[in-house]
Amino acid sequence: MHDYTDHIDSLADEIIAYSRWRMEADRMPLGKALTEDELRSQVGSTVTPSGIGGGEALRLFSEVLAPACLSIDHTKYLSFVPAAPTEAAALFDVVVGASSIYGGSWMEGSGAIFAENEALQWLADLAGLKADAGGVFVPGGTIGNLSAMVGARGAAEARLKAKGRDRPNRWCFLISDTAHSSVPSAAAVMDAEVIKIATGPDRRLNGPAVAAALDELGDRVAGVIATAGTTNLGVIDDLRSVGEACNERDVFFHVDAAYGGAALCVAEQRPLFDGIELADSIIIDPHKWLFAPFDCCALLWADPDQGRAVHAQHAGYLAFLDSQGDWNPSDFAIHLTRRVRGLPFWFSLATYGTDAYGEAVATTVELARVAGEKIRAADHVRLVWEPSLSIVVFERIGWTADQYQACTEAMMSEEIAFVVPSRHDGEPVFRFCFINPRTTVDEIEEILASMA
Ligand SMILES: *Cc1c(COP(=O)(O)O)cnc(C)c1O
Repeated sequence: MHDYTDHIDSLADEIIAYSRWRMEADRMPLGKALTEDELRSQVGSTVTPSGIGGGEALRLFSEVLAPACLSIDHTKYLSFVPAAPTEAAALFDVVVGASSIYGGSWMEGSGAIFAENEALQWLADLAGLKADAGGVFVPGGTIGNLSAMVGARGAAEARLKAKGRDRPNRWCFLISDTAHSSVPSAAAVMDAEVIKIATGPDRRLNGPAVAAALDELGDRVAGVIATAGTTNLGVIDDLRSVGEACNERDVFFHVDAAYGGAALCVAEQRPLFDGIELADSIIIDPHKWLFAPFDCCALLWADPDQGRAVHAQHAGYLAFLDSQGDWNPSDFAIHLTRRVRGLPFWFSLATYGTDAYGEAVATTVELARVAGEKIRAADHVRLVWEPSLSIVVFERIGWTADQYQACTEAMMSEEIAFVVPSRHDGEPVFRFCFINPRTTVDEIEEILASMA
């Protein structure tokens, strides 16, 4: 080990050759899960005292293990929120892996952190945050939301302290009934309560409802969380009125734009996000709709000191780093050691330019619109919601939940598509979420036809 031998050199060629092969879209199988027993019998034991060798491990990976993983970037993987990393982003992940860069402190990773910050700045500018906004890339929206909510609680505590008032016995967060599951989960980690505001027929959290709840709950509220692109329907809350209700009362306003935030780079979609600039913190997952490999979530603080106040770790062994007064990414979320996971995203932005991002995201919004039209034109399916962002939700007329399930299983076992049922108002529905701009209208028609 730890020796760059000829053998390792040829392994490097094999690994690059495999990676090249995998990045060519038309050779990408959808993949299918196997059981543990099936995998055990095909793979055998891989972790042994003398090792099985890199060539053999790579063979097992490429022939058995990888095909047992779904290709989330497949053109017909349309469930949950897919991914579709660009070639440049995926390639640069190899460089990040080879480079041993510590991304926690400026002193150790300044060059990489500078580049990550360029990418964060692009997002902050799209959102319209003030010039001194900044943040960090964290593993995902779940950690991003939790880190932001801890910041919100810190800000609320500081506000009460300044006014000489006591902190509540139990903090609460105001969220909507459409908030992502990670938000209540984060609140549970914090032993905080979530108070859900029921949304109306438009499914949007709005300012008057938030204002009324804030006035009733008073000092108990640690923060308000709005969603810009709900996971099931792609709905964007009324960010302006919610943001104003928060700002007027000096209450922390967090926007969960994990999925939807990507659409900020499409000029025609930007008005939907009006008011996002009022946020105290925002998360956007480049590993969803901004074509970065897993895992990559941008957490932005309007006032980075609010992040630092709750997340900077202090210890004798860190004092030297702190003494430099630098921009240390570890200060802005729940972590210390970190991979510079924003670099593949930065490299891709630098390679293709931001216009290409706007075009790719717009292409998927258009796919959703066209899918909506195909559904409207067909007899066996019915739209239950106007396509929003890149999400289309529809019912298969007359089917029971079991029939939805069976259809999904058939599509999976034949590796036709990955489209799982979701629920809307308690009823089973199908849902497409378009992330891959290579998905074609023919493929959409093929999937709809298989539901006939
Ligand atoms: C996906 C998603 C999350 C969670 O993000 P992860 O990266 O999966 O942890 C949070 N909020 C919304 C709105 C999402 O779509």
